[in-house]
Amino acid sequence: MWLRQNDSMSSTSTPLSTSSAVYLARLHRARDSMQRAGVDALLVSVGSDLPYLTGYEAMPLERLTMLVVPREGEATLVIPGLEAPRVTAQPGVFTVRPWGETDDPVAIVAGLLPRPAVAAIGDTMWARFLVELLGHWPSATTGFVRSTTVMNDLRMCKDAAEIAALHAAGAAVDRIAAQLQAGEIPLVGRTEAEVSAELSRRILAEGHDVVNFAIVAAGENAASPHHHPGSRVIRQGEIVLCDFGGTMNGYCSDITRCVHTGPVPADIAEAYAVLHAAHAAGVAAGVVGAACHDVDRAARRVITDAGFGQYFIHRTGHGIGMEAHEDPYMVEGNALPIAAGHAFSVEPGIYLPGKWGMRLEDIVVATADGPLAMNAANHSLVVL
Ligand code: ZN
Ligand code: ZN
Ligand code: ZN
Repeated sequence: MWLRQNDSMSSTSTPLSTSSAVYLARLHRARDSMQRAGVDALLVSVGSDLPYLTGYEAMPLERLTMLVVPREGEATLVIPGLEAPRVTAQPGVFTVRPWGETDDPVAIVAGLLPRPAVAAIGDTMWARFLVELLGHWPSATTGFVRSTTVMNDLRMCKDAAEIAALHAAGAAVDRIAAQLQAGEIPLVGRTEAEVSAELSRRILAEGHDVVNFAIVAAGENAASPHHHPGSRVIRQGEIVLCDFGGTMNGYCSDITRCVHTGPVPADIAEAYAVLHAAHAAGVAAGVVGAACHDVDRAARRVITDAGFGQYFIHRTGHGIGMEAHEDPYMVEGNALPIAAGHAFSVEPGIYLPGKWGMRLEDIVVATADGPLAMNAANHSLVVL
């Protein structure tokens, strides 16, 4: 669960610094994928596929930036001339084709390739560029598919450098969770919004480049999974749900912990024990070869068996990486087999409308040796 405080298109963060060899290997895998999918050209514009393939994150401007990857032959980064100084040359990976203020960048892109039979278009490319491209490559001769056809398997299976980045981001939010659980972040008497602002400051202080969200929901507000922290003052004797994360070196963190101000009533303690068991079951189900929905089923079964099934009102998890939410999703109906390197959240919740809510969330990476948690903060409902 999360709310973006920054529009993702306007947030900037430094992509993971990796060597040309890494980008070359990724482009190679993308081309293999293009071959399998019968795609002749991959066109990637703003969004996370571009830094994934090149290390360069484009400003989401009206001026076109586009990586053009033919199935064979050299990749070209078509880029506004004034942005060219921001691009680190990647000899052997791609060449840079800057364009000037009076050029037609879409014509430049179209000129790099004869009409491809099938072009894969970046999901987050602005529609205006695709519309203009259709003028050069009519749909009668060029078939268009989503770039996920080519990129999804690559993006889902994190390599060692990506897992290290997720681990570092996870460790950073773990430290904030520990600060919360140690009572170092005052709660009672402050508004949710004030605590959210403090969490955001700490997300940056612990090394993130961007704050993506910092949900703080007290008492009955915690029953709304996407609660927007507001003027509600946190009181003694209630649950406080905190779900926060950011982007560090291009990779995202996302953690949820609940604390209780004052002694925990028996009904909440009982429900939390169920939640904790559901979380453990969900994590344990996240093994290579299991289906994504097995993670959801494992967590949901525990909650349903305890009689809270109707109060677990969302999927169990989402993939995470360069995006806070990305494939694969841990949701009923997603039979995709979990593969080594898949990174995803396990975040069951129980929400009693008008009363309270609770959620417990860690990021997990599936490995050949079993699920590997990116978070290690205390799972208990800590009493403050
Ligand atoms: Zn979350
Ligand atoms: Zn999440
Ligand atoms: Zn646990």
